[in-house]
Amino acid sequence: MGEELEKIYTWKIDSLSLFLRYFVFAGISYFIFYVWKSKTFQKIKIQEAVPSKNHIVREILFSISTLLIHCAAGWMAFYMWKAGHTKIYLNISDQSGFYFIFSVLAMILIHDTYFYWTHRFIHLPGIYNLIHKVHHRSTNPTPWASFSFHPLEALISVGVLPIYLFCMPVHPIALFLFLTGMTLINVLGHLGYEIFSSGFRKSEYGKWHNTSSNHNLHHQNQQYNFGLYFSFWDRIMNTYLAPQELKK
Ligand SMILES: [Zn+2]
Ligand SMILES: [Zn+2]
Repeated sequence: MGEELEKIYTWKIDSLSLFLRYFVFAGISYFIFYVWKSKTFQKIKIQEAVPSKNHIVREILFSISTLLIHCAAGWMAFYMWKAGHTKIYLNISDQSGFYFIFSVLAMILIHDTYFYWTHRFIHLPGIYNLIHKVHHRSTNPTPWASFSFHPLEALISVGVLPIYLFCMPVHPIALFLFLTGMTLINVLGHLGYEIFSSGFRKSEYGKWHNTSSNHNLHHQNQQYNFGLYFSFWDRIMNTYLAPQELKK
């Protein structure tokens, strides 16, 4: 399996999948919530206003710029992998099935921590205007805003990659699953509609999980809710603010 995977899994496939994940997840959710069923879902819309066409074009163009930078980082990762400098392994049996699952969960938890603290960093006065203001131009984000970053923020966002490449054995499929989950949670955070019930959001598990309304609140009030997947760090650092209940 390892040799076959090495042939199939190329830098071009990796780059294509970066773009496909964004356009498929953001495109489908935009079509369902903003075009096809917008009236049906009106009651779970977080902010009343409908983003303009220019707003959406800006989100897409900055996201494409970010994905190109991610492709360049992917190219460097492939170069180092082929040169034998990474801990990437190709046969799942080289580790164990348990380790494979553990590595995906570890990547999510590591990324959640990395994201929270770099996000706090780019909100510092002086740095915010230079790096993060572009993302916050979307005060009422749509799914297209998922990667709408200034190029410097795009560079910071791939800074977590060396941890996965050099510090822990990672299988390419585990990396693929992690990146797919990351894109999905990013699209969800910028959806503009709250798809989870208030019952789930208040439940023992749900209260730790970031939702669309949590991240939407960050786009409205920049002092709270810096997390990506979970609210652990926001709760520990007193930066968590519960979104008000949606109108019914
Ligand atoms: Zn955002
Ligand atoms: Zn922010």
